[in-house]
Amino acid sequence: MKRAMVIADAINGFLKFGNLASPRMERILPCTGEHLRQEIRAGSRIIFLYDNHGPNDPEFKMFAPHCIAGTDETRVVDELQEYTRDAVLIPKTRYDGFYETTLEEELAAFGPDEVIMAGVCTDICVLHTAEGLINRRYRVIVPRYCVETYDAPGHDGDEVNRFALAHIRDVLGAEIVG
Ligand SMILES: [Zn+2]
Repeated sequence: MKRAMVIADAINGFLKFGNLASPRMERILPCTGEHLRQEIRAGSRIIFLYDNHGPNDPEFKMFAPHCIAGTDETRVVDELQEYTRDAVLIPKTRYDGFYETTLEEELAAFGPDEVIMAGVCTDICVLHTAEGLINRRYRVIVPRYCVETYDAPGHDGDEVNRFALAHIRDVLGAEIVG
């Protein structure tokens, strides 16, 4: 059984500092670290996706500017740095980790039977990348405590997590564990 683990946006700009950083997203760190240790031991392919925008990215019409290429916001958080050593790091500009990236080629070259999907935000990059995985016929597993989203006016983190996880499970057909 070959597995890959894809971690979306476990980077400073979402967990630590900058316009979109939210402290509740740090909740993913213990679970994500534990899964990374397990998967590295098992010989799984580890792939970190990270937001990496140009200065005038169209996404900034919806969200305040964040994760501009070359800034520390685009860097994987210190707590997970040790797991990047033998990992593949893939920059992205959209919610779907497959959009104009090398994710498809990386996965196809390794040929996993299952893909573990982790990271932030549950309702944005995790959801849209999970859809991309399912569309490519990968079996997808989402550990509940390895994904999180933010709190903001009109965006209650707990409620949004419930919706997004139910959608990922019941509509996309991924398995939620933990
Ligand atoms: Zn972004």
